[in-house]
Amino acid sequence: MKAQPKASHFIDGEYVEDEAGSVIESIYPATGEVIARLHAATPAIVEKAIAAAKRAQPEWAAMSPTARGRILKRAADIMREKNRELSELETLDTGKPIQETIVADPTSGADSFEFFGGIAATALNGSYIPLGGDFAYTKRVPLGVCVGIGAWNYPQQIACWKGGPALAAGNAMVFKPSENTPLGALAIAEILHEAGLPKGLYNVIQGDRDTGPLLVNHPDVAKISLTGSVPTGRKVAAAAAANLKHVTMELGGKSPLIVFDDADIDSAIGGAMLGNFYSTGQVCSNGTRVFVQKKIKDAFLKRLKSRTEAIVIGDPMDEATQLGPMVSWAQRQKVLSYIEKGKAEGARLITGGGLPNNVSGEGYYVQPTVFADVTDNMTIAREEIFGPVMCVLDFEDEAEVIDRANGTEFGLSGGVFTAALSRAHRVVDQLEAGTLWINTYNLCPVEIPFGGSKQSGFGRENSAAALEHYSELKTVYVGMGPVVAPY
Ligand code: NAD
Repeated sequence: MKAQPKASHFIDGEYVEDEAGSVIESIYPATGEVIARLHAATPAIVEKAIAAAKRAQPEWAAMSPTARGRILKRAADIMREKNRELSELETLDTGKPIQETIVADPTSGADSFEFFGGIAATALNGSYIPLGGDFAYTKRVPLGVCVGIGAWNYPQQIACWKGGPALAAGNAMVFKPSENTPLGALAIAEILHEAGLPKGLYNVIQGDRDTGPLLVNHPDVAKISLTGSVPTGRKVAAAAAANLKHVTMELGGKSPLIVFDDADIDSAIGGAMLGNFYSTGQVCSNGTRVFVQKKIKDAFLKRLKSRTEAIVIGDPMDEATQLGPMVSWAQRQKVLSYIEKGKAEGARLITGGGLPNNVSGEGYYVQPTVFADVTDNMTIAREEIFGPVMCVLDFEDEAEVIDRANGTEFGLSGGVFTAALSRAHRVVDQLEAGTLWINTYNLCPVEIPFGGSKQSGFGRENSAAALEHYSELKTVYVGMGPVVAPY
């Protein structure tokens, strides 16, 4: 299987190669096969990308928002027409089952282009401020050159979630995908240009943790939007702060999902499974601490076990497959080591806990795993695993579970399953997180703001709120009379 792109980078409207950059192997996680060889950006490539973005941005910003939006909406249409092809590429990049990528990846990217293309014309308006004769007005202006840095779990979605609002607001973007998943963003860049995006406005360069700082520290970069882990977020935010650059940080989580004893138990189990096993557990907002009220614990675990054991693990390109491999060998080893820690620290293994035996040993598969009797201080309850490992914790009452749910440095998301309307709202009101769900989990349509609090980051993606993070207000005071000076 091969998925070799025309070249490693896409700059100023065309593919560009510089073989002096270190080799990045793109590996299909289901088989361990190298499907493409690319090169990390050299400093010369970084300069070329930023120079192209800087040159192209003013003219783009001067276009009407409607005209910019039209191009984004055309790109959304092309993505939908190419959904199958893009989904297969996403599956090759990540190992996620085609059953998922075909409904969740290019489609959510297209939603971003469509949504921000649509609201560009109305959401960037300023205001008129009467001052009794004099007046002032505000304009929302783009920031300039924005850098997007992506994680490996949703390569195409992340490329679009950052590109859509950045471009709609009149910025140019240089996007660096994760070194684990270098392919998807190149396809997005091609489509944007096919849709009529002027050259230089959306550039993709490859690279790893050594390349990122070249972008973050560059004097011509106004803003960095990172999707990644908390340690990387701290480094990027610190580097950005040195030059007072704008930042959006979409970081990790260890989110609570609380199931009260009056909940619809099958829905709650469905929510917990989606919130732990979708994308093989590699979702930042996953509800990895599932708090189940004691009265329903046994029934919950019994049904959860049988439903988990029925998950179809296998070839990601087979439409019947529900769970694919982890993105990389390293990530698989990390998840397996957490499973061992769970066992060693006394959590009760309900199901999974090792490698599935129906798939190739060369692939990076892990069984979907459920631990019960997990306590708050166990490593698996405190640290982000980023794999298909669900921790079930017991609780007695509402006040206790809220306190324990908030007992984490993270604050990305959370959820509550209950039939009691007032309790649902009362509980989410007290959970310290950026995005919360009641009687469902992990739904992130483009219309709603998404992002974290505490160590999970700041800034918001999606919804009109994202435009505020890719623009700033300019205030103009207009004097209508003579200037009165005391000297
Ligand atoms: P990571 O932090 O290792 O890498 C993220 C990106 O940052 C990569 O492109 C990497 O090359 C780059 N990078 C690394 N060091 C850098 C540096 N010093 N300067 C600039 N760039 C640097 O994360 P990952 O392993 O790719 O992704 C998994 C993490 O991402 C998890 O913690 C997950 O929760 C988080 N995540 C968050 C969201 C969200 O929206 N909140 C979404 C997906 C993933």
